[in-house]
Amino acid sequence: MSLNGKSWRDNVRFVTPYVPGEQPDGADIIKLNTNENPYPPAPAVASVLKDFDSGRLRKYPKPLCDGLRKALSDWFSIASENIFVGTGSDDVLALSFLTFFNSKERKPLLFPDVTYSFYDVWAELFGISYEAIPLRDDLSIDENDYIGRENGGIVIANPNAPTSLSMPLSAIERIVSENPSSVVIIDEAYVDFGGETALPLIEKYDNLLITRTFSKSMSLAGSRIGVALGSKELIKYLWDVRNSFNSYTMDSITQEIGVAALSDRDYFDETRKKIIETRERFSKELSALGFVFPESSSNFVFAKHPAIDAAVLFEDLKKEGIYVRHFKGERVKDHLRITIGLDREMERLLDFLKAYVSLNRR
Ligand code: PMP
Repeated sequence: MSLNGKSWRDNVRFVTPYVPGEQPDGADIIKLNTNENPYPPAPAVASVLKDFDSGRLRKYPKPLCDGLRKALSDWFSIASENIFVGTGSDDVLALSFLTFFNSKERKPLLFPDVTYSFYDVWAELFGISYEAIPLRDDLSIDENDYIGRENGGIVIANPNAPTSLSMPLSAIERIVSENPSSVVIIDEAYVDFGGETALPLIEKYDNLLITRTFSKSMSLAGSRIGVALGSKELIKYLWDVRNSFNSYTMDSITQEIGVAALSDRDYFDETRKKIIETRERFSKELSALGFVFPESSSNFVFAKHPAIDAAVLFEDLKKEGIYVRHFKGERVKDHLRITIGLDREMERLLDFLKAYVSLNRR
């Protein structure tokens, strides 16, 4: 306590943080809880790690990640000036919230009530007012909810998480074109598993920002590489905020790892195709067990069972060494989000569920 009964605690920015999925250790664990890719990154990534000259770490990394942006520019056939990179799309999204959702009239940021649970955390952290718009009962997003409604910005994950559902490009285009006085962020973390990208719209709309990640389809969650694609003007404002905070967030090794991953499109296509095939097989069998879930465009399914308590199943799976994700929110508490892993991992899960469903109907 100080002189006038005030405490340093009066000056603390108290927040309720995002809670990431668990990262358990152990060789036997089947980890289907954080939407990681079950396949290793492209072989060229291993060569970068093996050959990297540690002497290079003496110097600061390239602050604008020139080499990585050049490789991304080739990958997406878009100019480097349209590309921003950061340490994971969480970093890119957080900076984008800080940069673009700064409504002077405190108009609310709009996003669905069931979506990536970091959005409201960033809004709270940065003091952005927001409105969470209910999904339809079938967990899909109604594009009309985002049209003709006053807002200071919009963020939509497409495909959405944890629902796994995607929206057609025409719906995204309507939202972007009908909101010319707001920045619309489309978070495409899972788009490579079946969604339709909004990339072709970037040339047409200067208020559209797309975010991407290397964590899912590139198998590089551990390296933390995120990307934003948008008009040159939007991208410039992002770099301005980045350089008002910390210029050197992506280290030199990671920048090279990113380039290496982008050097092998065949490997990328092969692994994401395998995941999609596993998802389709798994979905059929899961549905045969009585689980209900939307048709996934992502590397996970969001399933519930009418006769089983999801919270109890979550704990029982964990005892078996099988980690999935359970969210406690009212609209999602009956569901489990299950990442698509290797075929043999999904088979072990299905074997467990077969026995479980016949024993544990509530
Ligand atoms: N957006 C969505 C919808 C996600 O599910 C995730 C993963 N948790 C992210 C962004 C962030 O991914 P990363 O920071 O690993 O790029």
